[in-house]
Amino acid sequence: MSGRTGNGQGLRRRGRSEDERSLAPRSETRSREVRVLYVACEGESTEPDYLRYLNEQFGDGDGQGRPPFRIQPVYRKNGMTPSEAVEAAGKAAAEDEAWALFDRDQHHDIPQAVKIAADSKIELAFSHPSFDLWLLLHFQAFGGAQSGSSRIVVDKLRQAKGASPFKGYDKRNDKSIKGARRDALNGREGQAVTHARSLVASCAHGRCKPAHAKTEPVGRDTEPQTAQQWMARSGHAPDCQILQRDPSTDMWRLLATLGIHPDGG
Ligand SMILES: [Zn+2]
Repeated sequence: MSGRTGNGQGLRRRGRSEDERSLAPRSETRSREVRVLYVACEGESTEPDYLRYLNEQFGDGDGQGRPPFRIQPVYRKNGMTPSEAVEAAGKAAAEDEAWALFDRDQHHDIPQAVKIAADSKIELAFSHPSFDLWLLLHFQAFGGAQSGSSRIVVDKLRQAKGASPFKGYDKRNDKSIKGARRDALNGREGQAVTHARSLVASCAHGRCKPAHAKTEPVGRDTEPQTAQQWMARSGHAPDCQILQRDPSTDMWRLLATLGIHPDGG
């Protein structure tokens, strides 16, 4: 009974698949303490780029109470429908925290997507008319129903003060968020959250309140909720129809749950 038994060498670390590990920039020891969220995106470019930006800018925590996190973007070439995005989020996340991001666009399967999400506790960040609204809110407030069209939102984003890297946004198919565009967003997240919350308060329904929004994580195995209850986590009233939330974006709730910006009152 002398010497070392070799246990140290045989020590295996648990819980991360090979492909996940390859995407994790931090040491394994540390990443085990990191909150992991699987976030599926309807789009294949803008949203995954934005999520990578969140990882790189905020994912390490701030050492002052905001804990580290890592978002695992889930997306497909040529995009997904809302219900496909919800299903992909659930599949990729297994029991872990899952979100799905999708736009109003002209989709017909949004009620179905909400139902699947409510049944399996996949958080939704819905944007009406589009995710581009969330980008615009970094630079300015916005209001007025858009009837599903993103044209005015994109025009305003291209011209917004401080948003010069977005001048060519959505021209020649360039909806990426990299380099100068990231830099332009950075530091404006508090303003974006404030503007997005104020859109809840000014929702045409009349009884929607950002202070009613829920941002704490919900266990995937907790009691099922109705689609109405689940969509009310956005702060919109349970009977505020999702397709009538024009304009609005729930993206602020993702930042709030990560502690990137306090969700205030
Ligand atoms: Zn509402």
